[in-house]
Amino acid sequence: MTAIHLENLSKSFGAFTALKGMNLEIADGEFVALLGPSGCGKSTTMNMISGLLEPSEGSIRFGDQDMRGVPMGKRGVGFVFQNYAIFTHMSVYDNLAYGLKATGVAKPERDRRVKDMAEFLHLTPMLNKPSAGLSVNILQRLAIGRSAIMEPAIFLLDEPLSNVDAAFRAVMRTELKHLQRQFRQTMVYVTHDQLEAMTMADRIAVMDHGKLLQVGTPIDVYNNPSNVFVAGFLGSPGMNLLNGTSVGSDGGLRIDLGDAGLSAPISPALAAAIPEGKAVVYGFRPEHCELTSGEGINMPVTFVERIGARTILHLGDKATSVKAVFDNDVVVRTGETVTLSIDPANIRLFDAATGDAIVEAN
Ligand code: ATP
Repeated sequence: MTAIHLENLSKSFGAFTALKGMNLEIADGEFVALLGPSGCGKSTTMNMISGLLEPSEGSIRFGDQDMRGVPMGKRGVGFVFQNYAIFTHMSVYDNLAYGLKATGVAKPERDRRVKDMAEFLHLTPMLNKPSAGLSVNILQRLAIGRSAIMEPAIFLLDEPLSNVDAAFRAVMRTELKHLQRQFRQTMVYVTHDQLEAMTMADRIAVMDHGKLLQVGTPIDVYNNPSNVFVAGFLGSPGMNLLNGTSVGSDGGLRIDLGDAGLSAPISPALAAAIPEGKAVVYGFRPEHCELTSGEGINMPVTFVERIGARTILHLGDKATSVKAVFDNDVVVRTGETVTLSIDPANIRLFDAATGDAIVEAN
């Protein structure tokens, strides 16, 4: 078990910079997900941790050992990719045993570990089957097992579930978390799927355009995004973001949302953090909306989306659109104008110029 330290890590391909100045500390035994849209630099980061790529700048340390120049095979990492890498001409048993055999683990110990891993990953019934012909789901599970059986101190997984079907993905999310709890490896998991990151990781590291934007526990990053990108990226649907300006009123500062027809109240702690007349982005989660007959944000309903127990109201127009999520059915019709109220404690403000979160004044 090993901590990973990334310091000022950068990678360029010719004139293109894929990763800029990343600093991240991953504790011994921690499960960290690198989360971000396609092309943000997740795999590049992972490939540098594994030793497949050398950094252009900065350093990677495992514990107190500098990894510069240390080849992949000497780093003690297990790596599982999006596309399962297994020997299809071998049986499931032989695939699981392969690495143990190659490193000289004695047969009785090898046999015990193969059987334990097969049991853990529900592969026991197919141990003696040839791998060729097994489903993609099972092959990816086998690829995970083949790497995990080596009990690497550091386990790196790059989108391991993106090719498996949705039902299996849900099962594997739980199993991977159990696997990591059992072996207590330091786990780095690359994904663009926020559900995977939010459900499995101890902390998530949100990236965009080659930059690490925020690191924190899933709930903290969800509740307190550090900028508008993270706010909109996390959540399904993401946080509602409306342009506004702070205006004075009898009861302290409010946010004028222009066409949304409201000067919305904000908490005193947020109001104390900004001057009057500041351009801001006013953010609130879709699940924090309530329908009211009183004061609030007025918007026409453009679409009512009913998904089982949840209802998502699409409101506004192209320029100013909002989504509101309710746990039950709501009796509204398309075209009707409704008023949303949001508890000021659930409002997040961002600086319109920089996109950075405005932090409450103490
Ligand atoms: P995805 O989920 O699509 O793989 P990602 O976040 O993992 O996205 P990376 O694969 O790290 O992104 O790529 C980051 C950027 O670097 C992309 O714009 C990609 O095109 C570019 N890139 C990656 N590898 C190379 C390379 N060998 N040569 C040139 N550009 C590269």
